Amino acid sequence: MQIAIDGPSGAGKSTIAKALANVFHFTYIDTGAMYRAVGLFALQHNIDVKENPDALIERLDDIQLTIRCEDKQQRIFLNGSDVSDQIRVPQVSIAASNVAVIPAVRLKLVELQRMLAAKQNVIMDGRDVGTYILPDADIKIFLTATVEDRAARRYAELLQRKTQTTYEAVLEDMKYRDKNDSSRAFAPLKPAKDALIVDTTGNTLEQSIELLKKLIETKKNEEGK
Ligand code: C5P
Repeated sequence: MQIAIDGPSGAGKSTIAKALANVFHFTYIDTGAMYRAVGLFALQHNIDVKENPDALIERLDDIQLTIRCEDKQQRIFLNGSDVSDQIRVPQVSIAASNVAVIPAVRLKLVELQRMLAAKQNVIMDGRDVGTYILPDADIKIFLTATVEDRAARRYAELLQRKTQTTYEAVLEDMKYRDKNDSSRAFAPLKPAKDALIVDTTGNTLEQSIELLKKLIETKKNEEGK
């Protein structure tokens, strides 16, 4: 079974998807981490992907990504190094959004994403899971919230990780990524036609998890899965 959770940055996708994966005993796959790892590679090699996307395209075969599940947590390895924590800083968020515009990058990653989803029951989160990666997913959810609400949540998360930033910087970053992610030509951020749109503005994470748990249970019962 495949559950697709898409939506803009900071809508709570990953926290909610992880919790649901635990409840339903599915494997959680974070596709954003893959774009972040490619973004990190570009930063490490001083590749200015906006000015010169070809410089990254030429190096794509040098990027080896491995996903491993350790203690129910997804860890991501870039050319053998565990970069799971390193990819969570604001600079890498922006780099990820910039590399995600490049079709050749997306084609490389979609291969890995589909392979992972073919092997097991998955809850996969991202921007184009329901529209492009897994168009036949059993359940598609598009999670959203106002940009201010999302920025406030992400800011709290970054403070917890002791990342130095301000609410205003996070809000700007979020607006930049929203625009970049939804205006790109190839596999942009948008709800699939058959996605359930869930607005979590003002909800606590627990409320959103409860809501989605019920939606998934109903759908599973309907489909007898
Ligand atoms: O989900 P997360 O914020 O970690 O994703 C980082 C960036 O990767 C997003 O801003 C987006 O540009 C890109 N992304 C994407 N398609 C996905 C997942 C992430 O374009 N399926």
